[in-house]
Amino acid sequence: MIPVTKPFLPPKEEYFKYLEGVWERNWLTNNGPLVNELELKLKEYLGVPHILYLTNGTIALQIAIKALGLKGEVITTPFTYVATVSSLIWEGCTPVFVDIDPDTLNIDPTKIEGAITERTTGILATHVYGNPCDIDAIDTIAKKHNLKVIYDAAHCFGTKYKGKSVFNYGDVTTTSFHATKLFHTVEGGAVFTQDPELLKKMAFMRNFGHNGPDDFAEIGINGKNSEFHAAMGLINLNYIEKIFAKRKALTERYFKWLSKNDLQTPQFNKFSSPNYAYFPIIFKDENTLLKVIKALELNWVYTRRYFYPSLSSFSIFNGSECKVSDDVSKRILCLPLYTQLKFEEVDFVCRIILRVLNN
Ligand SMILES: *Cc1c(COP(=O)(O)O)cnc(C)c1O
Repeated sequence: MIPVTKPFLPPKEEYFKYLEGVWERNWLTNNGPLVNELELKLKEYLGVPHILYLTNGTIALQIAIKALGLKGEVITTPFTYVATVSSLIWEGCTPVFVDIDPDTLNIDPTKIEGAITERTTGILATHVYGNPCDIDAIDTIAKKHNLKVIYDAAHCFGTKYKGKSVFNYGDVTTTSFHATKLFHTVEGGAVFTQDPELLKKMAFMRNFGHNGPDDFAEIGINGKNSEFHAAMGLINLNYIEKIFAKRKALTERYFKWLSKNDLQTPQFNKFSSPNYAYFPIIFKDENTLLKVIKALELNWVYTRRYFYPSLSSFSIFNGSECKVSDDVSKRILCLPLYTQLKFEEVDFVCRIILRVLNN
């Protein structure tokens, strides 16, 4: 069986070594030494001034939305994981969908201004598949209309934009360290900001708003993460270059097989480079895609229709027609991509796809 993804797991012994320390200290959670060490190492590795390590990427979004005081309408993308949009609604905001660019699959900045109303307070955009949005265009629009910007960078571990970590952009950037992401801590996430006041606010929010044991500075939530999760992150960080290298090689293998056919892949931002988080391909129509899925499943290969359906097609998310997103989401498929995947398995998957396409 070839699944679409498999979490990376380091050798057990390495994890057990960390557990011994946890048992010795008897310190399981609440800003423990491993959490602190992970934050330090991630800061260094990523080249970001600050990081707040959190429970997961969804809490990261919710803390960002609340800390920025977003309310009313927030402009967002329909082509993302559901957590981006449900977090907005969970925090009492109304998502307003702006269609995506057909080449990059990120929110189309030329359509943002047309969606701004008196009630708009912010823009929440996802860097889909680790491909940065048109950050400069979004920034210009946000400044002009006095809007806050959050980037959901859940797919962007290691991604750089103009030579800097993509986590350094926007008023706040959020990310996820969930088990299925390129770098993971089993469950986990983070927020990043350049604004010291906002950072302080989010740090309070992460820990119930506590300002010392007897005082509260903010309305907070339980957004902190544990020593067990941080330990997994510390170990996985030692393997990150290997993880990137293998994913890059697998991606190149896919391209070698598939690039000659009339398959489209998202166009990458010219100020960035891929981090090989996903391998999405766009078929000419949904019927072809369904045939490919079926042929793959007959051979025990499982893909995932990331992101289908377009969130704009749901009334519970305040959906409205987004032609490009509605169309692309019906034709796009993410192929298996994970560190333990074998090159021969990529060959196997590609042969099945080509057999369907050339039929
Ligand atoms: C995974 C993901 C999230 C949610 O992160 P969790 O850590 O699973 O809560 C949010 N947005 C996007 C785009 C994601 O892919």
